[in-house]
Amino acid sequence: LLSIDGVWKEFRGHSVLRGIDLEVRPHEVVSLIGASGSGKSTLLRCVNLLETVDDGAIYLDGEEITDPRVDVDDVRRRLGIVFQAFNLFPHMTVLDNITLAPRRVHGVAKAEAEEQAGELLARFGLADKARSYPDQLSGGQQQRVAIVRALATKPRLMLLDEVTSALDPVLVVEVLQVIRELKESGMTMILATHEMGFCRDISDTVCFLEGGVMLEKGPPEKIFTDPEHAHTREFLRAVL
Ligand code: ATP
Ligand code: MG
Repeated sequence: LLSIDGVWKEFRGHSVLRGIDLEVRPHEVVSLIGASGSGKSTLLRCVNLLETVDDGAIYLDGEEITDPRVDVDDVRRRLGIVFQAFNLFPHMTVLDNITLAPRRVHGVAKAEAEEQAGELLARFGLADKARSYPDQLSGGQQQRVAIVRALATKPRLMLLDEVTSALDPVLVVEVLQVIRELKESGMTMILATHEMGFCRDISDTVCFLEGGVMLEKGPPEKIFTDPEHAHTREFLRAVL
């Protein structure tokens, strides 16, 4: 579904991604782990075309999206992205936040967009929040709305960048439950995360990044119990 092929990225002469290769198959959940500054967010931003790559290529459904002639909006329509900070529009209700992109970008009629939004809100236990404004919700509820909003455009792939790290531990659980349910529904996802327990539990593939290099990737059982690389072992020892 997604193929990252030898991607390099530098900022002001400093390479932050150094030849990243990654294949993501349909329904697969891939986690990116690694120390702060290792390049996890930058890699997700390259996939979403928020950054241009300096070398290498990224393919979505076989199409090279890093080709400069590609329609960036069309690519972003096929991706759902959720960040650490909730980024909901504060002056809009939950329902308007969710239906904005389907209506404006995808041309879905208001009634249909609202019906679909209602179904998604119900699925994630937020049915009674449709008319609320973001500041009337808890952090966990806001983040669940942000995930619902990303889902409303029916993405091929969800990119989740530390979606729980701004939350109190109690609220983390409800957001992780949403991600778990997404996996069960077959959604393909790439997550950057510092939640090691959850990562081990939900991922099909775990990738360890260090200084922009993908030092190691493999199934969670392998990475967490018997990593190939001494640096992976040191990282895990420090965070677990
Ligand atoms: P964290 O776990 O803290 O979120 P990360 O793995 O997501 O870290 P990135 O945000 O991808 O790390 O950053 C990788 C490196 O790229 C860092 O050294 C960072 O300072 C640098 N960097 C990221 N964005 C920019 C930018 N827009 N301009 C300059 N340097 C940047
Ligand atoms: Mg980051």
